[in-house]
Amino acid sequence: MIALSDVTFRYGQEDGEAGDESGVQQISLSVQEGQCVVLCGRSGCGKSTILRLLCGLAPGFYPGRVSGEVLIGGRNPSSMSPEERAKWFGVVFQDPRSQFFMDNVRDELAFSAENLGMAPDEVMNRIEEQAELLGISHLLDRKLGRLSSGQKQRVAIAAASVLSPPILILDEPTANLDEQATQTVMDMLGRLKANGTTLVISEHRLHSLLPVADAFVCMEQGSLVRMWPKDEFSRLAYEDVRPYGLRH
Ligand code: ADP
Ligand code: MG
Repeated sequence: MIALSDVTFRYGQEDGEAGDESGVQQISLSVQEGQCVVLCGRSGCGKSTILRLLCGLAPGFYPGRVSGEVLIGGRNPSSMSPEERAKWFGVVFQDPRSQFFMDNVRDELAFSAENLGMAPDEVMNRIEEQAELLGISHLLDRKLGRLSSGQKQRVAIAAASVLSPPILILDEPTANLDEQATQTVMDMLGRLKANGTTLVISEHRLHSLLPVADAFVCMEQGSLVRMWPKDEFSRLAYEDVRPYGLRH
């Protein structure tokens, strides 16, 4: 479903002028349909850059030089139209507050679906179903500005998944949440897992991801350095993961 082979991306100028050499290098990673992979590693190691490459945002929006191959369902995401990309991916970016377009929750969920050409009646049914599945029905008529960070995060996830995209990507979904809110987000991810492939980017609370994760992939300075299947990761001690800048 997701396949990166020997992908190197350097932030810099589109015309080939050298940038500051930050980015990611020689990344090979494949994620099968239905799997949930956690991409971890300390701040600045390249996690969000991988997200941009997968969604076809780099080098289009982020000038730079890319080599190697990124394939999503056998296709290069940077050759997809914006509509195709929107159908393939549900993305929750690092700061969900910056991705809301509407004032209230129902309108926010409707916005993405209508944008993809779904009829208004159908959209309303779909929203009710998804809200029910994800346990946010009670939030549908609330103002987004009045929600807690945990509730905003749940709305952002619901909005990204309302049309059941084959690939769901979440960048640091629990970074600013307390334990209780983290648990609720994990429940949501568990319910969404059946829909498709999930990539969760996280530096924090990696153990809380164990119920949904199939594997943990660790990056360091732009490279993939370790891959732990879930069972193996669950047996690691703090001392084992600390050298990678990871916390349980
Ligand atoms: P992470 O998400 O793991 O914190 P990033 O993927 O954001 O890391 O960043 C990886 C590297 O690329 C870092 O060295 C960062 O400074 C650099 N970088 C990230 N975004 C840009 C950008 N838009 N322009 C130039 N360099 C960037
Ligand atoms: Mg990041």
